[in-house]
Amino acid sequence: MNLRIPGPTPCPDDVLEAMGHSMINHRGPEFKELSVKITERLKKIFETKNDLLILTTSGTGGLEAAVVNTLSPGDKVLVVSIGYFGDRFAECAQIYGAQVIKLDFPWGTAADPDQIRQALRNNPEIKAVLVTHNETSTGVTNDLEAISGVVKGEFDKLLLVDAVSSIGSIPLPVDEWRCDVVVTGSQKGWMTPPGLAFVSFSEQAWKAYSQSKIPRYYFDMKRAKNYYERGQTPWTPAVSVYYGLDVALDRILAEGMPNIFKRQARMGQMVRDGAKSLGLSIFPREEVASNTVTAVKIPQGVDAKQLLKLMDEQRGVVMAGGQQSLEGKIFRIGHMGYCEYDDIQQVLDGLKATLPKVGFQPSAVGR
Ligand code: PLP
Repeated sequence: MNLRIPGPTPCPDDVLEAMGHSMINHRGPEFKELSVKITERLKKIFETKNDLLILTTSGTGGLEAAVVNTLSPGDKVLVVSIGYFGDRFAECAQIYGAQVIKLDFPWGTAADPDQIRQALRNNPEIKAVLVTHNETSTGVTNDLEAISGVVKGEFDKLLLVDAVSSIGSIPLPVDEWRCDVVVTGSQKGWMTPPGLAFVSFSEQAWKAYSQSKIPRYYFDMKRAKNYYERGQTPWTPAVSVYYGLDVALDRILAEGMPNIFKRQARMGQMVRDGAKSLGLSIFPREEVASNTVTAVKIPQGVDAKQLLKLMDEQRGVVMAGGQQSLEGKIFRIGHMGYCEYDDIQQVLDGLKATLPKVGFQPSAVGR
């Protein structure tokens, strides 16, 4: 099977084999060594000197940790949303009692830093800005460097970043871009199964922590930090996923981050060019299109469900549909993490063979 959803992503055999390791005492020296080794390498990839803590949870748990450890009920926050996951981040902050000022951009476009500047000017009491770096639902990457230039450079607000489907695959130098909290999940660009979230936490985030009044228990970052210093986690960690991640990080650092970024960029271009050569259209404008997940418009008259079903059953290619208002309007091809050019070629060949069966003739270029 060619799993081309935008997470969970495929894992190399050695990662899966490593997960078969027998259980160890999660409060013993072996786990301590594993956890420190993993954390130090993650910090390298995050390009940060901030604390980085590993939580046993999915990406959403990491985002919830960002909210409950820095905010208080009644705090005004600006949530910049360009899609489904931006909306979720807003929902999470709202549920915990933050006063959410939502800055929505049409799905398929990127956030405009000028409008963020304006929103911050209009609402000087805003405490934090929550933003998605790579919006997996629409296949768009925000210009986080420019956003941070406004949020940190001009207003010095707390910046909480959903980097679930970006960091490790596309550039996000955490310290250089002054991101206070950055969250990702093991099942995205990390070639590792779901189960762990990685959360970096800056000095300013710790300052916010000391003032934050949202109740927290499982996701208490201070507790996680205190335990990490002893080589442990407060709660039983997903030990097997740690073993898999250990091997995946070896692979990632052996390839080298600059090479990964280049490969991801080439992969993104290959998907977009390939889809266009079949006569399909990319959902977002190319300048903002993501290099980890590509959203492709469903041609007029084509039944999205049928296309995905035939691709799966007849070609062994599993892709994702659209979420919420994009259901039936786009399909998405994930290409982060463990993805080879052949995997993408298989998707494109599959589309070429399958599209006529759902009523769309691929264009001459693609034939
Ligand atoms: N944010 C983004 C950008 C995502 O892509 C995802 C997962 O698809 C999430 C948040 C939620 O992560 P999880 O499903 O691991 O909780």
